[in-house]
Amino acid sequence: MTHEKQTVAVVGGGPAGLMAAETLANAGIAVTVYDRMPSLGRKFLLAGRGGLNLTHGEALETFLTRYGAAASALAPAIEAFPPTALRAWAEELGEPTFVGSSGRVFPKSFKASPLLRAWLRRLAGQGVQTCLRHRFVGLGAGGALRFETPAGPVEVVADATVLALGGASWPRLGADGGWTGELARAGLDIAPLQPANCGFHVSWSPHLREKFAGAPLKSIALSFEGRVQRGEAVITERGIEGGAVYALSAPLREAVAARGEATLLIDLRPDVAADELVRRLEKPRAGQSMSTYLRKAAGLPPVAIALLREAGPLPADAAGLAARVKAMPVRLTAPASIERAISTAGGVRFDALDTGLMARALPGVFIAGEMLDWEAPTGGYLLQACFASGVAAGRGAIEFLKSHNKGL
Ligand SMILES: Cc1cc2nc3c(=O)[nH]c(=O)nc-3n(C[C@H](O)[C@H](O)[C@H](O)COP(=O)(O)OP(=O)(O)OC[C@H]3O[C@@H](n4cnc5c(N)ncnc54)[C@H](O)[C@@H]3O)c2cc1C
Repeated sequence: MTHEKQTVAVVGGGPAGLMAAETLANAGIAVTVYDRMPSLGRKFLLAGRGGLNLTHGEALETFLTRYGAAASALAPAIEAFPPTALRAWAEELGEPTFVGSSGRVFPKSFKASPLLRAWLRRLAGQGVQTCLRHRFVGLGAGGALRFETPAGPVEVVADATVLALGGASWPRLGADGGWTGELARAGLDIAPLQPANCGFHVSWSPHLREKFAGAPLKSIALSFEGRVQRGEAVITERGIEGGAVYALSAPLREAVAARGEATLLIDLRPDVAADELVRRLEKPRAGQSMSTYLRKAAGLPPVAIALLREAGPLPADAAGLAARVKAMPVRLTAPASIERAISTAGGVRFDALDTGLMARALPGVFIAGEMLDWEAPTGGYLLQACFASGVAAGRGAIEFLKSHNKGL
């Protein structure tokens, strides 16, 4: 067993942990970042594949509402490091940003890799040390951090610690939620980790599954319990996923948990009013097959026509057909696995933390990023909360060290 002494240990080198490390290093504090993976920021790099939606350009007041029940708990961190500060930070690293037509903010390069490279270079220049292939496995005697490494177990005693181990989605990128048991045993109150911005299972017919898994449903509107979401979805072998589904995934997940299922309504032609659709479908079929007729009269692609048949034989009358096109019911039976989710709901409850994000049960241990109990839709809200809580945890650790006359 190797023993190390550190001023501040940041465990988890994603956006939240690296931001905490930078905040501490800027204050002249010695920081070491530990991560189980052979390189840092792997999920951040994956986010870059979708263009890297860093944050959102809407007014801060509206922005904060996106965090739902966690809005008031996250507000101090986001107000202290708001979207404008995140954009300035990216620009300083050579990656200026712009606000897209949807209000989403992206780096002009649409990439994460140059930003991450520049950031890691700057952190190294600030003296931040990195220990890779160090898997945090729990707390030892006296609060020591226990790691498994290729060279054997290592114990680290630090004056302050920031844990930023992420959630449980895409575990092969490093964050697998393995920390929940150990930290619950250490006295932290943790809401169960659940998939967020996720797909759902549907019992498709073999025909739809075999012929249309992977097919996109473009320009549709989904509705559930009065909430309507326009966008796209994709039929998968086991169900349905995609941006519009993710946007409704929190209420859908809650409904499935409460009732064992949830019925999503899909409007396959949201731009055509119901009465106009009836009028178009009243035209005589004139010997055309039903599929050809629906393709021509209602402008539906083959995947949408196959989907319509999942709710039973197609209605023979125009009004019945139009009603199905405008509100095709799809019964969701379970959220898809968290491994495929964009993000994680649940985590360390804010009640377990003080205002500086320090765990009340573990003085000197701060929590940041997706480990915390919040969820938000896609749109840049995920990364913004991770960066901002990283800054807040770093500042919390600085105050802690000051009040204990350490590290400065
Ligand atoms: C496909 C995809 C696309 C996305 N796109 C966007 C987007 O465009 N905009 C947006 O806002 N958000 C996006 N996100 C979400 C965003 O990437 C995450 O919210 C964010 O990376 C979480 O940051 P974090 O620092 O809390 O955790 P992570 O980025 O998950 O980092 C956690 C780190 O902790 C390490 N770690 C975990 N367990 C251990 C352990 N036991 N010991 C040591 N190290 C450990 C991991 O290796 C990892 O490096 C996307 C997510 C996915 C999956």
